[in-house]
Amino acid sequence: MSPSTHQISSNLDLDNLPHFDLSTFRHDSITYHKEDSSYWFYEKSKQSFPGQSFGLQVEEILYHAQSQFQDILIFKSTTFGNVLVLNGIIQCTEKDEFAYQELITHLPIMSHPSPKKVLVIGGGDCGVIRELIKHVEDGTVEEITMVEIDDMVIKLSTKFLPEMAKYHNHPKLNLIIDDGFAFLKNSVEKYDVIITDSSDPDDGPAEEFFQINYFKLLLNALNEKGIVIMQSSENIWLNLEYLKSLKTKASTVFNNVKYCQCYMPSYTSGQLGLIIATTDSSKDFTHPLRSFSREKESKLFKYYNEQVHCMSFVLPTWAENYLNNN
Ligand code: SAM
Repeated sequence: MSPSTHQISSNLDLDNLPHFDLSTFRHDSITYHKEDSSYWFYEKSKQSFPGQSFGLQVEEILYHAQSQFQDILIFKSTTFGNVLVLNGIIQCTEKDEFAYQELITHLPIMSHPSPKKVLVIGGGDCGVIRELIKHVEDGTVEEITMVEIDDMVIKLSTKFLPEMAKYHNHPKLNLIIDDGFAFLKNSVEKYDVIITDSSDPDDGPAEEFFQINYFKLLLNALNEKGIVIMQSSENIWLNLEYLKSLKTKASTVFNNVKYCQCYMPSYTSGQLGLIIATTDSSKDFTHPLRSFSREKESKLFKYYNEQVHCMSFVLPTWAENYLNNN
């Protein structure tokens, strides 16, 4: 199949978006503080992180709507740049997005001997695509398919997160607007690397990505010795039990499963974990197969480097014991 860019279908007119007046805007996540007349976004989840909340001061509401799939809020913060929020949960901020995008992309690509064909599930802000294009440019990756359920997220990202979405139209990108789970159920294609860059499981369209059946679909869509990686939606401070259960689910399908993590100040508790897996039991994820010169590395990446690759698998003692020692 030769890559082609599918037209994004939502009839959102990016040049004529409504204006949102912060003083009259109402949203469950936004609170007005009378003492200094400031507005704050607070990320809340009774299910995933009861009793704690990350907050950002809001300068301007850039967009808000209920799409067919989720509540989409985009605001300009005073210190983290523009922020994309889906169903009340931060997806990315301009200040720190590169940490997550780089790790979830470069870990599997640099661990695979020849990652020619890559599938991204979710990924509407297109940050992972931006990172994958670096490997297209160095001749490693040949074809990228991205399956995102909500074309509004892509369109809005081109306007409000332009640095992340700059390659949404790249000729090597085959963009498909569909449910990633349904796509994998019906697909007969095989990939070398599959990156699941989805939103969290609670109350949204990404729920099915955190179940055993999804790992089975991933396995079915992988070439021999292929690698999958997904955001785990939790981190070691928030819910070790959940991470252990996700790792256990992945291990029922893949015999080599590792947990790794990156610093992300805008994700609850300041970290995000990833699950990386393959059926190749001899694969050592903790060391990249290829490396760049120091100079090239620091031109290409802001977060990723060879040491970061290795260190992202190192866990503090209590988490290592709980997650990795039976
Ligand atoms: N980095 C983010 C994080 O870890 O929270 C994920 C960002 S990306 C914006 C998540 C994307 O997954 C969203 O654009 C959402 O629409 C998409 N998504 C959720 N469920 C999906 C599904 N079933 N199929 C395809 N895409 C889905």
